Amino acid sequence: MRASQYFFPTLKEAPAEAEVPSHIYLIRAGYIRQLAAGLYEYLPLGFRVLKKIENIVRKHMDNAGALEVLLPILTPSELWQETGRWDVYGKELFRVEDRKGRLFALGPTHEETITDMVRKNIRSYKDLPKNFYQIQTKFRDEARPRYGLIRGREFIMKDAYSFDVSEEMAVKSYEIMKQTYKRIFDELGLDYLMVEADTGAIGGKYSHEFVVKVPNGEAHIVFCEKCGYAANVEAARYEFELDKLPPEDEKPLEKVHTPSVSSVEDVARFLDVDPKKIVKTLVYILDDGTAVAVLIRGDRELNETKLINYFNALDCHLASSEELENLGIVEGFVGPIGLDIPVYADISVKDLHNFVVGANEKDYHFINVNIPRDFNPVEFVDFSTAREGDPCPVCKSPLKETTGLEVGHIFLLGTKYSEAMKAYFVDKDGKEKPIVMGCYGIGISRLMAAAVEQNHDKNGIIWPESIAPFKLHILALNIKDNQIKNVAEEIYNKAKEKGIEVLYDDRDISPGAKFKDADLIGIPYRIVVGKKIKEGKIELQKRSAGEKEEVSLENVDGLLERLKQD
Ligand code: ATP
Ligand code: MG
Repeated sequence: MRASQYFFPTLKEAPAEAEVPSHIYLIRAGYIRQLAAGLYEYLPLGFRVLKKIENIVRKHMDNAGALEVLLPILTPSELWQETGRWDVYGKELFRVEDRKGRLFALGPTHEETITDMVRKNIRSYKDLPKNFYQIQTKFRDEARPRYGLIRGREFIMKDAYSFDVSEEMAVKSYEIMKQTYKRIFDELGLDYLMVEADTGAIGGKYSHEFVVKVPNGEAHIVFCEKCGYAANVEAARYEFELDKLPPEDEKPLEKVHTPSVSSVEDVARFLDVDPKKIVKTLVYILDDGTAVAVLIRGDRELNETKLINYFNALDCHLASSEELENLGIVEGFVGPIGLDIPVYADISVKDLHNFVVGANEKDYHFINVNIPRDFNPVEFVDFSTAREGDPCPVCKSPLKETTGLEVGHIFLLGTKYSEAMKAYFVDKDGKEKPIVMGCYGIGISRLMAAAVEQNHDKNGIIWPESIAPFKLHILALNIKDNQIKNVAEEIYNKAKEKGIEVLYDDRDISPGAKFKDADLIGIPYRIVVGKKIKEGKIELQKRSAGEKEEVSLENVDGLLERLKQD
């Protein structure tokens, strides 16, 4: 491809709203442009990268026996009503109406559609297992579309759905996808973790996320360097047994005056006790309006996702001052003793002795509180957010914490959708049974951003070879110099003949501008044809390494052959 005929409008400056490297460089290097919030145009370079990612994903999905389909983007509301998700999905669902007043959603994911296809076409155990996938544009009206391709409102996803006769077989399909995902992310050249994840709104039995490690990513992960365990902080089990305080003899309960002292740090300082012995009482309002109190040790953070999952709620929020007042609860001094709403406790409170809680009275706390002597929670539940230093649930070594970008998510769904939508099959024993499902997503367009997040320097992108838009970039530094031009043209033609994907900068612009663009665009190999041509030499550079290698003209064929094989 000749740069003079190509299109990569590079920019000196990124738009003000671009905060992360992938957003900045993909725009500056002319890969993408924004149309409106969360909507992006893929320019020729961007589209090439996208296709490469798609093709790697497609190759491994095909190898795993999954069958590619293409489902309509518009999804009838009736299907979403069947599973209850028309209401549950909330504002993220883009809803549209046709001329007859029928409602549709622009597909944010396709469990309903594929389950409908399967229930109409699969009847017998003989037709199973099946795994269908597609690579397609998805729509989600994200509350905060941002970071360029990382969180769009229109984005490209590979979504796959497996259908099996039993849970045992479904687990096998799930395992195949897990291995397939590893192959995909390995080939993409990314540094990632496979983490145990929360199943969230999609529901189901268990799930894993594939998370690309990046600083300041939205996903918070704990992982164990020793045994390889990794989990989302909201999914990681808290090993409280290893984090318990030593046992103590129970002391008599006492109410103490703590004027205007309510935060954990202040109470700990005022009473001169370890913050681990201050128990916070948090009042939460669930989406159905129920108020619950949750106790947690002063040094731990409650995880709302764990709370929502435990109560099978869609949402929850901390009670406001007004809501506390309506419940007759004294803000800042809430405690479990004598409280009128159900009290649950995080496991960090189990076996804790002589601890401190609010006394439900302004400016008072109870000290030397003990369970079950002074009160009894409905249940002890793991509500804690995992954090660095917590014991690994598998091998007990201290966990590390990192952030990342979720690029893939796999779920074992079970029969949630097949039962709701009556997708049954007739088994060997002649009985009708619900098909057991799994679903598997990969953020194709987000991956393009993730690759840049992990592979860039201060001058631009450094593409992993597997997804670079071109393999070789030829720069003819002064196109008006006939010798330079002729040699560059010749190398370009030879590279094309060999089937090397090559971008040839034949533009009549300054060498500095060519180097700047080349650094921004980030093609892995660069051949520079410049003044050294007088000595019969060109230069080979690797974008990732920066070092230059002089190559004599008679060795160019060999060099191209090497690049081709590489
Ligand atoms: P997130 O927590 O980031 O919102 P999710 O859990 O909603 O992701 P899934 O429903 O599992 O995502 O979708 C599958 C994949 O699609 C994700 O792993 C991610 O890579 C990608 N994805 C999800 N939402 C977006 C988005 N708004 N923009 C780009 N890619 C997305
Ligand atoms: Mg989401």
